[in-house]
Amino acid sequence: MYYTGTRNTDIHISSSQAITGGIAEDGGLYVPAEIPKISLDTIASMADVSYIERAEKILSLYLTDFTGEELDYCVKGAYSTGFSDEKIVPVVSIDENTDILELYKGPTCAFKDLALQILPRLLTVSAGKTAKGIGIVILVATSGDTGKAALEGFKDVENTKILVFYPSDGVSPMQKLQMCTQEGNNVAVCAIQGNFDDAQSGVKKIFTNPDIIKKLKDNSLAFSSANSINWGRLAPQIVYYFSAYCDLLKEDRIQCGEKINIVVPTGNFGNILAAFYAREMGLPVNKLICASNANSVLTQFLTTGVYDRNREFYTTISPSMDILISSNLERLLYYFAGSEKVKEWMKELNQTGKYQIDDETFGKIKDVFAAGCCNDDDTKATIASLYAEKGYLCDTHTGVAVKVCEDYRKSTGDKTPAVIASTASPFKFAAAVLEAVSGEKPDCSEFEMVGRLEDITGIKCPPALSGLEKKQVRFSGCCKKEEMENTVYNMLKIGVQ
Ligand SMILES: *Cc1c(COP(=O)(O)O)cnc(C)c1O
Repeated sequence: MYYTGTRNTDIHISSSQAITGGIAEDGGLYVPAEIPKISLDTIASMADVSYIERAEKILSLYLTDFTGEELDYCVKGAYSTGFSDEKIVPVVSIDENTDILELYKGPTCAFKDLALQILPRLLTVSAGKTAKGIGIVILVATSGDTGKAALEGFKDVENTKILVFYPSDGVSPMQKLQMCTQEGNNVAVCAIQGNFDDAQSGVKKIFTNPDIIKKLKDNSLAFSSANSINWGRLAPQIVYYFSAYCDLLKEDRIQCGEKINIVVPTGNFGNILAAFYAREMGLPVNKLICASNANSVLTQFLTTGVYDRNREFYTTISPSMDILISSNLERLLYYFAGSEKVKEWMKELNQTGKYQIDDETFGKIKDVFAAGCCNDDDTKATIASLYAEKGYLCDTHTGVAVKVCEDYRKSTGDKTPAVIASTASPFKFAAAVLEAVSGEKPDCSEFEMVGRLEDITGIKCPPALSGLEKKQVRFSGCCKKEEMENTVYNMLKIGVQ
């Protein structure tokens, strides 16, 4: 198995090269040249094993230059401790046809832990094969959850440094506190004046700037990415869709081979793309349903074939989905249309903020994907009714997905069992969730809100969040977009320009 580039198929590299490289020099993303297949028999046999064994099976198909021992070290290191549920990704039924896949039982209470607990291990093993003696510099642009999950995954990992940029007004108070109190000797966090797309474009520019790359090289350092553009982030996410299916099989909720729909609250298109890989591998999936908030650029794209980021940007109660450029969509386009077209569309996106795919490609995408969006009021109403009717408390991102799933069922009549990805603990977004279930706009501190939410629902806030109240803030800096490069040099102590 080898990896190639979405904009250049002359690229022919191993999985460890793809993981250490992060992003191709031409700005394209690394993708497996062919998607491996898995049989129904194998899927059925995975129903009886642990998450760790499921992960080793799926990842071994993609990380073909890792030895069994290396993979075992990475997978066991990531998932043996740090998750508050022994199933790692429990599936909870909310009605006979709908299950919630709880992806937030990791150390930072967001689904990104599933990838970011293992990525540092994948990366250091990969670097040992491809770039001995080079220190890895992780730069992250975050809309909230990636930053914390990456910091937690990389803290004090030898030979790595991590620097996280987050939009000053684009993350929840809990997310901000999680990042600014981060411990570890190789970490730094900085706010930037702007939104997530500004942070992400800034990081992308730094990654691909030859002068900066050279400067790092002269200091025996090299960039790598922990954003979902890194293949090492995506591959581990494929696992939990198989795991969910296996758990449904085990509980006799579906028959082997029966199709499910998967609903994913989507921002950068990483999580749902992992579901797409699972589907291509042979997981019985009917539709992948892409749920967006008021920033509905993906809903428009998946229903019209036009991607247009020239639109108003909304700050919503589901901030991890406040995104207008969904980077991982490029990988999907590669599989449906090939690198030449991808190159053209990405150039248009860069120059005009917009592109339209051809009818043939659009037709292929529509066969697999459905999409919908939901505003903040509907999100809150959905959280409230799910809690009132089913006693299930979900966060704002999951609320968007639940609503889009309901809308999809109403408009299509599709009765396929649905698995809804739940991407964060409701206590990470206490203000909006409390308002939804209590009907009142809370006017108190973040931790008072957490307490009230616990009192009302009888559900305990995860200690990883409630404990933040007493932690010291270590990082309070905020820089302009133009200052990001110097912030990087400062952190690395390699001379300010
Ligand atoms: C990151 C994130 C998302 C969006 O996931 P993508 O892979 O970027 O599409 C959704 N919900 C939460 C809570 C997140 O942290």
